[in-house]
Amino acid sequence: MIDERLAMIAKTIRDVPDFPKKGIVFKDITPLLADPTAFVASLDVLAERYASDRPDVIVGVESRGFIFGAALAARMTASFVPVRKAGKLPWDSVSMEYELEYGTDVIEMHVDAFPKGAKVLVIDDLIATGGTAWATCELVKQQGGELLGAAFVVELGFLKGRERLAGVDVFSVLTY
Ligand code: AMP
Repeated sequence: MIDERLAMIAKTIRDVPDFPKKGIVFKDITPLLADPTAFVASLDVLAERYASDRPDVIVGVESRGFIFGAALAARMTASFVPVRKAGKLPWDSVSMEYELEYGTDVIEMHVDAFPKGAKVLVIDDLIATGGTAWATCELVKQQGGELLGAAFVVELGFLKGRERLAGVDVFSVLTY
């Protein structure tokens, strides 16, 4: 039963108050990763949701998006593409700036990450304000990808990241 799986996964996510700064409750997914039953169940839920879409490419966002994205790509026989913070990728890259609470940040993706028309699914561990996912989706569209959607293990619903991704199909395993 899907609800039993979700409850089991939820038990493995640890709330860490005041990390990395006061007032933030950090959702620590390391206990989930340490529990193979929960980790596999989270991948199962994501893979089932997108099975009929048959993504060609899974784009994972640095750094915890790599963990879920790469595992899901292998599971779904899709390519894995990393999106990284500025200056980390070795090859020619395209970049996208996005707004944070204070200031801006930049993410990058290789220019040859996927062929035009590829069906792309964006994955990260968590959506908060949605800025990171928005920038990633923009890069995918700019590079000619057919964006299937953006999926997360955890959604902080009260931060309304979903609204920032207007027009993008958003799916989360767990919503808080
Ligand atoms: P945002 O761009 O605001 O949606 O932030 C999403 C990114 O920041 C993701 O890559 C998350 O891993 C990380 N993040 C933001 N808030 C939290 C939180 N409360 N707990 C864990 N990770 C977070």
